[in-house]
Amino acid sequence: MNETATLRARAEIDLAALRANVRALRARAAGAQLMAVVKSDAYGHGAVPCARAALEAGATWLGTATPQEALALRAAGLGGRVMCWLWTPGGPWREAIEAGIDVSVSGMWALREAVDAAAAAGTAARVQLKADTGLGRNGCQPADWPELVSAARAAEESGTVRITGLWSHFACADEPGHPSIVSQLEVFRDLVAYAEKAGARPEVRHIANSPATLTVPDSHFDLVRTGIAVYGISPSPELGTPADFGLRPVMTLAASVALVKRVPEGHGISYGHHYTTPAETTLGLVPVGYADGIPRHASGRGPVLVGGRRRTVAGRVAMDQFVVDLAGDELEPGAEALLFGPGDRGEPSAEDWAVAADTIAYEIVTRIGPRVPRVHL
Ligand code: PLP
Repeated sequence: MNETATLRARAEIDLAALRANVRALRARAAGAQLMAVVKSDAYGHGAVPCARAALEAGATWLGTATPQEALALRAAGLGGRVMCWLWTPGGPWREAIEAGIDVSVSGMWALREAVDAAAAAGTAARVQLKADTGLGRNGCQPADWPELVSAARAAEESGTVRITGLWSHFACADEPGHPSIVSQLEVFRDLVAYAEKAGARPEVRHIANSPATLTVPDSHFDLVRTGIAVYGISPSPELGTPADFGLRPVMTLAASVALVKRVPEGHGISYGHHYTTPAETTLGLVPVGYADGIPRHASGRGPVLVGGRRRTVAGRVAMDQFVVDLAGDELEPGAEALLFGPGDRGEPSAEDWAVAADTIAYEIVTRIGPRVPRVHL
């Protein structure tokens, strides 16, 4: 670990909280297996330690977007079931198949590439067929499903493919009562029934992400794929707070105040002078900026706990630093600035930053950059 960087800023990752979250989610989806989604470096929390902790707490699957992310888990010695779902041309599919990673196929073109990669690997590819039941993004259109199922079954009969899963993804599970939830479930049930009638014998059928795991029990099937809830963040303020679901935020983002200085009334602060001191005051310099993932869009709005009090980003967030108005408080440089965390010390949450930056908490934690060391506790 780079100690200098740690003194500047650090993201503390509470793995005990992560384990407790996984246990809480397993209890909520009792009867289904749990996949911990660890794509994008476990939503910025550090993929390998988080994956390991999730498995310790009873997750039986790990989920990633890219095959490279899945292979990195294997390279770190993680066994068990791993699935990656973003099929891209020319990916390391042979390596993924050799490593026993489940790959997702949404169309004929990807199926053909999987079959070729399996032939090169000399082993059957574990393939999960993905249906677009209404998300309108990745996945096979229902109209094309018979062709895909039939081709996958033929490949299965010839030994190049094993259909290990049938799956889909929700569009609006974070909007309670949204009609698409029920309609996607209906389409999913029909498409699963069709594939099973055609001879598919999947190990897992799954559609639920965190919001569906938390609020739509009918959607649990054999497996739930939970990402954001594993990290103790509510999928949406509309659904409730983390505490409402027995979840605890895993990441605390802390920095050390780098400079404290007195300035007169009327002093313009940071690029563009979008904040002007209303009176003589003290300023604190927080040495993280948009290059670290602090949203520039939260300029003038982002909340920070400094010296035991909530402050607001004064003026623009710059690349490596921003300023808070300490309202005359005389703090020592090195004082802790807590940007977000579980709230035990009165610090803001990642959700608060999402509101300040007009985005979702997923983006707040995922964008914390590589320059901020992750300290796994
Ligand atoms: N499944 C898929 C296919 C995803 O892309 C994601 C994340 O975006 C998830 C599951 C996990 O979603 P959430 O973080 O809302 O649990």
